[in-house]
Amino acid sequence: MYKEYSKYLKEKYGEKVYKLPISLKETNCPNRDGNVGFGGCTYCGDEGVGFENLSANLSVKEQLLKNKEHITKKYKAKKFIAYFQSYSNTYIPIDLFKKYVNDAVIDDIVDISISTRPDCISKEYLDILKDIKTKHNIDITIELGLQTANYKTLNKINRGHTLAEYIQAVNLINSYNFNVCTHIILNLPWDTIEDTIETAKIISVLNTDFVKLHALYIEKNTILAKQYLNNEFTMLPVEDYIEKSITFLEYLSPNIAIQRIIGRAPEEYTLFSNWGMSWWKIKEMIEEKMHNENRFQGRLFNYSSHKALKKFD
Ligand code: SF4
Repeated sequence: MYKEYSKYLKEKYGEKVYKLPISLKETNCPNRDGNVGFGGCTYCGDEGVGFENLSANLSVKEQLLKNKEHITKKYKAKKFIAYFQSYSNTYIPIDLFKKYVNDAVIDDIVDISISTRPDCISKEYLDILKDIKTKHNIDITIELGLQTANYKTLNKINRGHTLAEYIQAVNLINSYNFNVCTHIILNLPWDTIEDTIETAKIISVLNTDFVKLHALYIEKNTILAKQYLNNEFTMLPVEDYIEKSITFLEYLSPNIAIQRIIGRAPEEYTLFSNWGMSWWKIKEMIEEKMHNENRFQGRLFNYSSHKALKKFD
């Protein structure tokens, strides 16, 4: 029905691969510190969207080794991804960035994944990663938050960038042959189904490699929480998320692996999260509907290959 990331990893590396999250104490976000904007994206809480990490006061190596030991014991894991998760991990001085990513080169790491914003990508930082890829034969993945291709919604949620910066960042990352993973929030209340489709199409034609889909959750003490409590928008029902995720997948290139079909946030931090349901229940509902209606990833992907010329074939 859709290309699951876990299967992609198994095929590529021959076994299950586990992510080891890393937090950096120096990272912030240009959309929170006033460089690009103040206050951040309206939905962003204090953690910079990363709940499961060890303390950023531990060094990169300590965090990796601690997590690695734990996961190795629990799952007999042998291969890992070093995952720089919280905030914008390329938004730090270049020497520090160089040190941290090189510190992440430890035994059994097959990929270094770096989460950041589209307006925090430059050649100088990518060159450092290219050296690591060449010297150590480690894959590089850059995770970019886009959330939606609708630039008007991007403005509403105060992302501090539009679609253009995303396109430029993906083109540059592609020129280095790194992987790109794009984060999307499928049920932003200001987006229509047409916006969902256009988002899938843009991600596909830019040849990104992975997507992470999230439902919008409302974290306490955020701008979004205030708007929610003031009834400035309404959360649509779970059926809307299910339909949007299936439509999104139908328009998505079949080559893109899905890292997540729905996210999760701990209840104690949120006013609204996944309609009070577990993420796996919603995943099951999506898969069941896809199965019953014979819908699958890439079913409507025919727009990408000079569709108008087909009549001359
Ligand atoms: S870009 Fe990420 S870290 Fe920055 S404000 Fe938005 S969600 Fe938070």
